[in-house]
Amino acid sequence: MSERFSPKVVPLLDLRTGALAVPAAALRHGHPIAGAGLLQDRLGRHLRDLRISVTDRCNFRCSYCMPKDIFDKDYAYLPHSALLSFEEIERLARQFVQLGVQKIRLTGGEPLLRKNIEVLIEKLARLRTLEGRPLDLTLTTNGALLARKAGALKAAGLQRVTVSLDALDDAVFRHMNDVDFPVQDVLAGIEAAQQVGLGPIKVNMVVKRGTNDQEILPMARHFKGTGIALRFIEFMDVGATNGWRMDDVLPSSEVIARIQQEWPLVALKPSSKGETAQRWGYANTLGAHDVAAGEIGVISSVTQAFCGDCNRARLTTEGQLYLCLFASQGYDLRALLRGGATDMELESAIANIWGDRSDRYSELRGALPADAGSAHRVEMSYIGG
Ligand code: SAM
Repeated sequence: MSERFSPKVVPLLDLRTGALAVPAAALRHGHPIAGAGLLQDRLGRHLRDLRISVTDRCNFRCSYCMPKDIFDKDYAYLPHSALLSFEEIERLARQFVQLGVQKIRLTGGEPLLRKNIEVLIEKLARLRTLEGRPLDLTLTTNGALLARKAGALKAAGLQRVTVSLDALDDAVFRHMNDVDFPVQDVLAGIEAAQQVGLGPIKVNMVVKRGTNDQEILPMARHFKGTGIALRFIEFMDVGATNGWRMDDVLPSSEVIARIQQEWPLVALKPSSKGETAQRWGYANTLGAHDVAAGEIGVISSVTQAFCGDCNRARLTTEGQLYLCLFASQGYDLRALLRGGATDMELESAIANIWGDRSDRYSELRGALPADAGSAHRVEMSYIGG
């Protein structure tokens, strides 16, 4: 068998080279923005939140995200020259902020694997929103390197972190990360983040029925009353390699029902428009929110779509602008950057691309065949979660 058709290569349709060129007309000023932060897409959704993937590499091999049989030592990760430099990321981020972005989340891959990530954080921490405030600057990490890096991240200007943790039981956790990484080290990372004040901290747990759903209550018990918000994420049909099946999805409604049996909950209001999680507070004996006991969240991206107020744009490791986690193509902003575009042209391009947006994949999913388009979906590790 020739290498080109080895089983490793065939299942993963490589979408990374298929970026859409930004049409020349999009570079011209004339979009309905921006000074007042009123840029909106065709469905009236504002651009508020930018997720930036800083590397396509990860030190975990969670089967729902970067399964080992595909992402092995022969996998062709992006070469360094393909990655946006910190200067390029900062320049693009500045244009996004000019258009109303208030929150930037660094992600990956595993963002703490990007060398000198603190330098990028310092640059982004200097940006100011249209209202003159610092950005809500955060980072999503698997926590493996957090104990070592928390102090430097805080000093560079990072405000808070979200840590992914799928189980407290060490055997279950090692099985899920598939690199035999111990849970204690992630817990130590969370503690270090808490100590240096990288908060409020959120912990994300992807729930897979039959794999880690027995960990729901132990995880809730562990984080209750700690000031850390635990969020349960439905296993999503992102990418083409994680063997997603609806049978493996444990609906958020069931997560809530299980926790309610142990501790009564009260529904809380969203803390911001477009928030991904539905919030629930632990109730006191009067049925009101017991603030000291804290809250949990559920992200029901499969069973309850939330495209209506989606305000997120995603910038991939090599500078493609994606308008949806489930899209199969992004717009090539790196080509503009490296082709000499001015700041005004970059800003116009982003504004026009956003202004033309009308996707709402999650809402339409129910009407599509189960595997519709899945082979053409970009991987989570590339686009950033
Ligand atoms: N490496 C970092 C981490 O582990 O948090 C950041 C990147 S990771 C792709 C971002 C988030 O996406 C993590 O919380 C991860 O659990 C989640 N994720 C990845 N694949 C997923 C899937 N198929 N369904 C739901 N969440 C997923």
